[in-house]
Amino acid sequence: MTAIRAFIAIELPAEVRARLGELSEKLQRSLPPVIRWVPANNIHLTLKFLGDTSPTNLEFLAKIMAAEAARRSCFEFTIGGLGTFPSIRRPRVIWVGVQAPRELDHLQRAIEAEALRLGYSPDGRPFSPHLTLGRVNQNASPEDVRKISDLILKYPHKNLGSVCVEQVVLFRSDLSQKGATYVPLATAKMGKRLVEK
Ligand code: ATP
Ligand code: MG
Repeated sequence: MTAIRAFIAIELPAEVRARLGELSEKLQRSLPPVIRWVPANNIHLTLKFLGDTSPTNLEFLAKIMAAEAARRSCFEFTIGGLGTFPSIRRPRVIWVGVQAPRELDHLQRAIEAEALRLGYSPDGRPFSPHLTLGRVNQNASPEDVRKISDLILKYPHKNLGSVCVEQVVLFRSDLSQKGATYVPLATAKMGKRLVEK
């Protein structure tokens, strides 16, 4: 059976994506061209990266998500602030911060635990919710890297809005030279009972 590259994420409303797109464009104008920027419409909050997944497991995962979401309530988080992974002086991933209530951690941990039962190993690092704006090329020069760190460090913190989490989505990710295309495979709504087929 063909494996499908998959991940579980929270989608962002269109107006939040538009604001992230504006921020991304501003940064693109100020930073050296050594960054692969995520198209604004692709920006999302990853809860669990699954990688290659069989169609059977996708069905299991969709059911698990539905059950987990159904017994939880909607919650809200805000976004704002810039940072980099793994550290500010070694910027590999440029991100916008997520300020979320404990519910987000609980949801992520539950999904992580259920995925582990299906054999998906945990990330190893603690969950650190973020929205990836861009990825710095491996071959960026020390000078370019310093420019990136300096700008991100001094960038003013601005609240970019809030997101109401009403559902969790299982995505397929098709990688190509043009970038990733995400296709929603299943949606799990918060606070609703799992409807049996
Ligand atoms: P590309 O890999 O072409 O840059 P992408 O990272 O957007 O595109 P995927 O690699 O399919 O697409 O990743 C889908 C989502 O899962 C993204 O949010 C990505 O940051 C996250 N992700 C990918 N690999 C991992 C990983 N090893 N650990 C944690 N999250 C990951
Ligand atoms: Mg990737």
